[in-house]
Amino acid sequence: MRDPLNDSYYIASAGECAADAPLMSDIKADICIIGGGFTGLSAAVACAEAGFDVVLLESEQIGFAASGRNGGQMIPGFNMAATDLIKLVGEDVGQQLCHLAMSARDRVHARIERHNIDCDLQHGHIHLAAKKNDFAYLEDEVAFSDRLLGVGEAVLVAPTDIDRYVNVSGYHGGVYVPKGGHLHPLKYARGLKRAAKSAGARIFEGSRAASITEGEKVVVRTISGSVTARYVFLACDAETGDLAPKAGRYTMPVLNYIIATEPLGEERARALIPSNAAVSDSKFVLNYFRLSADNRLLFAGGEKYTPKPPEDIAAFVRPYMLKLFPQLLDTRIDYAWGGTVGITVNRLPHIGREGNKLFAHGYSGQGVLLTTLVGEVLAEMLKGDSRNFNLFEKIPHRAFPGGKLLRTPTYVAGMLYSAMMDRL
Ligand SMILES: Cc1cc2nc3c(=O)[nH]c(=O)nc-3n(C[C@H](O)[C@H](O)[C@H](O)COP(=O)(O)OP(=O)(O)OC[C@H]3O[C@@H](n4cnc5c(N)ncnc54)[C@H](O)[C@@H]3O)c2cc1C
Repeated sequence: MRDPLNDSYYIASAGECAADAPLMSDIKADICIIGGGFTGLSAAVACAEAGFDVVLLESEQIGFAASGRNGGQMIPGFNMAATDLIKLVGEDVGQQLCHLAMSARDRVHARIERHNIDCDLQHGHIHLAAKKNDFAYLEDEVAFSDRLLGVGEAVLVAPTDIDRYVNVSGYHGGVYVPKGGHLHPLKYARGLKRAAKSAGARIFEGSRAASITEGEKVVVRTISGSVTARYVFLACDAETGDLAPKAGRYTMPVLNYIIATEPLGEERARALIPSNAAVSDSKFVLNYFRLSADNRLLFAGGEKYTPKPPEDIAAFVRPYMLKLFPQLLDTRIDYAWGGTVGITVNRLPHIGREGNKLFAHGYSGQGVLLTTLVGEVLAEMLKGDSRNFNLFEKIPHRAFPGGKLLRTPTYVAGMLYSAMMDRL
């Protein structure tokens, strides 16, 4: 049956890719990775390159969930202002985390180059201030980033200069990050899969991990086989709670939707976004958009805090697009899809370990770059250098209140309130 959430432009444009066979026997490995999104794949490449015997289990196909459906926006840093991060974890740890997060972009570029991944890579990201106060906030961030990371990592854009980057009105300025950008996420995921396999990782698709038995060795069981390993790494993002209920309490699934217009032609597309940068704004329920390699506008706006998607995703997102780009009134929408974003209370990723069970989830809408970093940090840790992994573990997190059944309604009330404040 056709899945309306998975009718994406990415599937239509990524080309054919043969799936790997499911796990059909009992095997051994050094590390069993559960989840074939960016986190699991990056960990698989990095661990296999470091000499570990790696098995990766993916319940569907590689890139099936958020990693194959996202906006493709490469947004450097965390989904929290650096100044706030430092307030949260202190000057020393905060600065180290900022440097680490900023290294993610170079790591993704290195992967793309080293493994020759053709994924429609483009440079530049601009974040727009929806309110005057937001612009003042961005000014502080840019000054801070100049001090911490060096001048030019982030460039303040005055309200009158916005149209050099993107042709929208109603914003109060922005910040342009040349080291940001965008890519075709499904092509990147498949490129990582090829890289992991050529480094020696064994990948099984259609292989849902049903249970984990803990002990000196962990045993991960699927319906038709098992993996006995020294470590298990849960890279299931929004689904972590199914296998690790304790860690799962720290993330909340939120559905988010994207549409792709018909191809607009280069001239019309560039009239919308002259810089060809990825664009996002500071609204609580943010708009984010960019051009595709074949000159479509890929636009995301609106969130729905219920487990059920809207009947007609295109009709749900289109008004947000038309509000910014009324000139697209007659433009056809060719694709509309959605996916689950795993978010944490503070919007920072939740990364840690419970014995030999390791996990990383909750990138809160900013996982395109951070996931590759996390996979590499995991491999460093297994090799004996846990400095960077420990840094992530120093981020304090709060579980969502209310347990599995109650946390959704409690959270929905909070999100709706914030969205309403946004409109006011
Ligand atoms: C619509 C949308 C738009 C987004 N836009 C952006 C963006 O523009 N920029 C950005 O930085 N981030 C964005 N994100 C967030 C980003 O996509 C995620 O943070 C990132 O992809 C998470 O990668 P992951 O590998 O941790 O998880 P996922 O990609 O969710 O992968 C987890 C995998 O685990 C598998 N799995 C789950 N349970 C099991 C099991 N029991 N056994 C085996 N396999 C299992 C799933 O099938 C899935 O393939 C967006 C997310 C969504 C949904």
